[in-house]
Amino acid sequence: MAKTLVFGHQNPDTDTIASAISASYFLNKAYKLDTEAVALGTPNAETEYALNYFKVEAPRVIENADTKEVILVDHNEASQSVANLADVTVAGVYDHHKINFTSAAPLWFINKPLGSVATVLYYEYQTAGIEIPAAVAGMMLSAIISDTLLLKSPTTTPMDKPALEGLAKIAGLSDYEAYGLEMLKAGTDLSTKTAKELIDGDAKSFELGGQTLRIGQVNTVDVNDVFARRDDIVAAIADELSSENYDTFVFVVTNILDSNSDILVLGDNQDKIATAFDVTLVDGRASLPGVVSRKKQVVPPLTTVFEG
Ligand code: MN
Ligand code: MN
Repeated sequence: MAKTLVFGHQNPDTDTIASAISASYFLNKAYKLDTEAVALGTPNAETEYALNYFKVEAPRVIENADTKEVILVDHNEASQSVANLADVTVAGVYDHHKINFTSAAPLWFINKPLGSVATVLYYEYQTAGIEIPAAVAGMMLSAIISDTLLLKSPTTTPMDKPALEGLAKIAGLSDYEAYGLEMLKAGTDLSTKTAKELIDGDAKSFELGGQTLRIGQVNTVDVNDVFARRDDIVAAIADELSSENYDTFVFVVTNILDSNSDILVLGDNQDKIATAFDVTLVDGRASLPGVVSRKKQVVPPLTTVFEG
């Protein structure tokens, strides 16, 4: 009989990959099931870092579930799942998201609003008295760090830190903060990108009060990593201002760990930008504490000043 496949959502993140590996091992040990962890895509750079660090092989990638039964982790909605989900039976779910799921038969459905599915699984292991292998523990702690941004995101719960500490002990990781920072950094590795790729990444244009503003944003765990390349970035922005006829370029560099941003402003309207954020621009740069969202925290104050 074909193995029961355990997998997380499409565009897999670290929690999805780690929880598939962890849940598969747990179910085989605790319930004598015959399961295999698989994935609906290849690991991202952050997950790759964790897999390499703990010497764990990436799960096999599947297009369709070529089996009778599946177990879902880190998702429960069909739209985020395998293409042929309707053709197979969902035998179990380990999740921490809102529920949009129905079934024709009873199933294991374990959903707790904790920081990560790895946290949920950690307590499943504890309850069942199953030992977690060191490498699996390493992946699980990576998942907690990823989903909670090192216990700093507003999604973090009181259950996550004890789980992370317990897993670090099992994995033999003495400094999970240092490891976590490196892992998160690997996921925001901008070093392979050119300055033009950095500023273009997800840049959008806005027409405000007759001026064309171009606003680009990058995520990082250390704004200094980005500003170390300031000269190249300034040159790339200057090129774009003249070739595309933008009046102003606002480059937003967001620290995902402390939820602060720095902006770098080039072109006209420096006074207006400074007024919008109530800051002083020094060589075009200013810090915007607590700002992470372009849509909600950058464009609205600019609109007020430019169109007010
Ligand atoms: Mn996820
Ligand atoms: Mn998750």
